[in-house]
Amino acid sequence: MSSSSGFREPALTVAQQEVIDLLGARREQRPTFDQQLRNDLYDLLNASLAEIVDQLPDNQPLWVSKNSLSGVHGCEARYVAEHASSFEWSVPLARGTVAHKAIELSMNWRGELNPGDLVDEALARLEEGIDSLAVWLQQCSEVERAELRSEANDRVAKFLECFPPLQPRWVPVTESRVRIELCGARIVLSGKVDLSLGRAEGDVAGKVLIDLKTGGFAPSHLDDLRFYALLETLRVGTPPRLVASYYLDQGKVHPESVSVDLLHAAAERTIDGVRRLVDLLYGGAQPRYRPGPSCRWCSERPRCETGRSWLAAEADAFDLDDFGLDE
Ligand code: SF4
Repeated sequence: MSSSSGFREPALTVAQQEVIDLLGARREQRPTFDQQLRNDLYDLLNASLAEIVDQLPDNQPLWVSKNSLSGVHGCEARYVAEHASSFEWSVPLARGTVAHKAIELSMNWRGELNPGDLVDEALARLEEGIDSLAVWLQQCSEVERAELRSEANDRVAKFLECFPPLQPRWVPVTESRVRIELCGARIVLSGKVDLSLGRAEGDVAGKVLIDLKTGGFAPSHLDDLRFYALLETLRVGTPPRLVASYYLDQGKVHPESVSVDLLHAAAERTIDGVRRLVDLLYGGAQPRYRPGPSCRWCSERPRCETGRSWLAAEADAFDLDDFGLDE
């Protein structure tokens, strides 16, 4: 069976075919980009951030991830509180890495693809490492390990059901790390893409960057992927063709084409975010409270009057609306 997308796959489910139709493209459909774009973006970022480098501590680069940018563009009070607490692995933080490792193993797995087997093998491989996740996996409780296995298994099973089998010719890569140094390595932009497919050929875009998500759509998912498109352009020179969130619970893909305007917007958001990060972490700026739905799962909520008031007001509005009494 062949599809109009240029990808060929036998016996696909409707959900799998939809992914291929949305993410695939023949060579003549792929955009080309000016090879000067990479230098332009570097110049913009370096020139715009040069003025704040002196505020950074010596010998301590500022690491900027999609999470730090979404944190500082969201509720600054929450970001500052989380930044001050030490990082510890947990089931919610580890399940994505375990699932992505299992998906990576599925690409070259011989025999039937059983999510439980893939997850067990992924856990065993990760546990053999020397990083902090390996140490946590070696020491976590049986309950945590069972929860982790269950949640990773759910992700992998949904991925295998709804995503087309990954073919080596698509150049699939999971958890690919990107590191971009700015202002003489005083600022480091970093990212880790869940899954990438394809690659650029000269100035012709060909790569698709994919974030695997549980739950539903959030606007920050678009910003996260645009940031990754920016990093990829700074690394390779030719931007990715598409970025896409893949919602495992829904079996739906939300793609967005990458354009020069999108990349410049991502660069400007990065510049604004880095400036504010430096103000908050080293410039004595007071964090702004931006209450919203995320107050529900914010660890600061017990201590945050602003967040609790917002949630109480929303609960009242919901109750009135529920009974038709809001007029
Ligand atoms: S509870 Fe809400 S307002 Fe308060 S710090 Fe958390 S996210 Fe911000």
